[in-house]
Amino acid sequence: MILKSIPKVDKFITNKAFEGLSKSLIKKITKDKISNLRADILENKTQNIDEKELINEILDEYKNITSSSLKPLINATGIIVHTNLGRSLIDKSTFSKAIKIASSYNNLEYNLEKGQRGERYEHITKSLKELLGCEDALIVNNNASAVFLILNTFCKNKEVVVSRGELVEIGGSFRVPEVMLQSGAVLKEIGTTNKTHLRDYENAINEQTSMLLKVHKSNYEIVGFSSDVSFEDISSLAKEHKLIDYYDMGSGHINSLPYNLDKNEPSIKELMKLNPSLLSFSGDKLLGSVQAGVIVGKKELIDKLKKNQLLRMLRVDKITLAILEESINLYLKNELDKIPTLKMLNTKVEDLEKRAIKLQESLKDILDLKTQIQTSQTLIGGGTTPNRKIPTVVLSLVYKDFKANILEEILRKNLIISRIENDKVVLDFRTILEDEMDTLEKILKEIFKNG
Ligand SMILES: *Cc1c(COP(=O)(O)O)cnc(C)c1O
Repeated sequence: MILKSIPKVDKFITNKAFEGLSKSLIKKITKDKISNLRADILENKTQNIDEKELINEILDEYKNITSSSLKPLINATGIIVHTNLGRSLIDKSTFSKAIKIASSYNNLEYNLEKGQRGERYEHITKSLKELLGCEDALIVNNNASAVFLILNTFCKNKEVVVSRGELVEIGGSFRVPEVMLQSGAVLKEIGTTNKTHLRDYENAINEQTSMLLKVHKSNYEIVGFSSDVSFEDISSLAKEHKLIDYYDMGSGHINSLPYNLDKNEPSIKELMKLNPSLLSFSGDKLLGSVQAGVIVGKKELIDKLKKNQLLRMLRVDKITLAILEESINLYLKNELDKIPTLKMLNTKVEDLEKRAIKLQESLKDILDLKTQIQTSQTLIGGGTTPNRKIPTVVLSLVYKDFKANILEEILRKNLIISRIENDKVVLDFRTILEDEMDTLEKILKEIFKNG
């Protein structure tokens, strides 16, 4: 009877094929496989036992379980700050500073001069003060935490005035009204969806008011009959009434942007000239660094933020601080081409074209593959500059009679994320790094040579 020839787990796992692998994990997988095999035999789905196949199945499963699910990939979508693809990239040289800090003891909370306990945030504050001219700074886990911490510290059970046009939802379920509710702040909505005037802010102020808040619209824009109030005006009104003015700036571009992308959206440096109470932005959007929330502003207020117990839950680790400090120093040294997000944004169309030509040339011998270089448009993404287009260069791929969505899927399974434009798969060179070109070429050749 075939049931009798089912291998015994303990004996089977001594097979040479499993040498050097975790015994306990191999045993667990083998148990599962053998019990499935027994069930199949009882249900007459299997008539024979192929030991070699069984070994391979176990090895495949072992590999599957122990390999990491987080993988590097090639972003050929053209969207620079791609929310689903990890937002901003960190340059290897920037990261290497963090490796040094994380792989040795360091002065994270140790004052080397005094030989006493020091402050975790001190390191980065120095660079940020220099770059932005702020009185003080604080770093938290992300910008969502920054907003939450600020509202919770200053606005619990007090009113916060916000324009209805800025009650936005940002990807990953950050909704301004809900964050406010959770923080304990009382939302005082003013104006209408398309128009808010300075007098709306003025009329809303009463004894319960604690803050005038402006939120960067991030992912949408009202075109047509619309107006909102500049942070400059909000800020001076707040000062007149001794209220806190706070701008949740989200995207966080330090300097002005190319292609007029920041039309009507002052940079952090410009906003800081208004001497705001508080300003916060993400570390991994246009700043081009690691995930973090950067809070800058008045020392007196930042001291209060530091005393909120919540900060202990929202604080960042040494790796984040090391990377962020290094990035801020790059801004100070004006070495902006070491910040991948800015480098990609600033690459000239001619250079993108050169990359496209090089790739097209290398693929020209592949039978049945038709490629075409085109100029196109893309976006920064990540809720930074809604609807503002940037010029780019793409290579369209047509293979036999494959439909675009099928081709897109094949590329995706090979870790190349493309986009579809006019029913064709295109590779956008705005986000394909120079040092990825060879890998890209190799993967494409492999896919298409195999037919
Ligand atoms: C992106 C964004 C946030 C959330 O920032 P995270 O860094 O993703 O937590 C909050 N507010 C605005 C205006 C944003 O653009």
